[in-house]
Amino acid sequence: MGIGIRGIINIIRLHYGQQKLPALLLHNYDEWPQWKKLCYKNLIGCHVSRMLEFNVALICWLFLFPKTFSEAKEWQLCWVLKVILFNLTCEFTICGFWHWLTYESIYSKGKFKEKKFNPINPYECHDKKNEHLLEHEILISTLGWLHSAMIQCTMMWLWASGRVPYYADFWKYPLYSIFLLLLITYWRQFHFYWSHRVIHPWWNINYGLKDGDIGAVFYRYFHSLHHKSYNPGPWSGLSMHPIEHFIYYTCTYFPLLFSCHPLHFLYAKFHADISPIGGHDGYADPGGDSSFHYLHHAKFNCNYGSTLINFDQLFGTYVDYNDYKKLYSK
Ligand SMILES: [Zn+2]
Ligand SMILES: [Zn+2]
Repeated sequence: MGIGIRGIINIIRLHYGQQKLPALLLHNYDEWPQWKKLCYKNLIGCHVSRMLEFNVALICWLFLFPKTFSEAKEWQLCWVLKVILFNLTCEFTICGFWHWLTYESIYSKGKFKEKKFNPINPYECHDKKNEHLLEHEILISTLGWLHSAMIQCTMMWLWASGRVPYYADFWKYPLYSIFLLLLITYWRQFHFYWSHRVIHPWWNINYGLKDGDIGAVFYRYFHSLHHKSYNPGPWSGLSMHPIEHFIYYTCTYFPLLFSCHPLHFLYAKFHADISPIGGHDGYADPGGDSSFHYLHHAKFNCNYGSTLINFDQLFGTYVDYNDYKKLYSK
């Protein structure tokens, strides 16, 4: 899961009938026993696959903060606009490129097409339901990126004006800093499951407030917008109602509770911004490879979280993609 340079190279190689790039340092991975694969995935792979999210956070800290942070003691249009511009550049570069690669380019028309979970391209389908789907998703995703850019501005203002404590030297507390950075990967999955589960019906889709089903109300009025993309693409990830954006991005509020380095906040923020791109692109490896979340969109009442911390398995809502395919191919 996750998108990056390796995925791009493998999509191009697949188009020309070449083998995938061999896995670095992971010799004979396919022959590993299941427990070893699971340990690798949950302890190392889950962080390695988020290199893009981390690198964007690092670039933001190294290049945007020196130009903006000293001015952030007070709200001024100049530094706020720089933060917004940085975020929108990331959105259109990363999401726009991944959409082009997986839905528009010549590489999306050949062998890679066979990797699509739902063979129909929703952006080419002239179904009335899908009219202006792409424009709609881009517009709403942009509202999401603007929302997270404003959280970033607020956090910068709180830190720079001394209202909320932070530390500027990442290596001042090396163990704490690294531990917290690694923890964010798991925190995001934990937060995503619960913040997503509560906006789906708790008991029944037809229920409402009088039946004590706040989830059904949240779903009906807010989250159903995200589920309009039942055959999702890269722009579907942040295509959410603004109320859902608010709930979703609360995963970045932890610096209000304890002192951390800005990189911790930025990693959580860009993780929330970028990880849905691969999570929704609708393709198996070498695409985003999130059959798990694809099934959530296709079926609606399963796979609410992720495979990293699999609450769905615990609560009986997990559906395996291979089982689903077997069932529907009968
Ligand atoms: Zn959902
Ligand atoms: Zn989704």
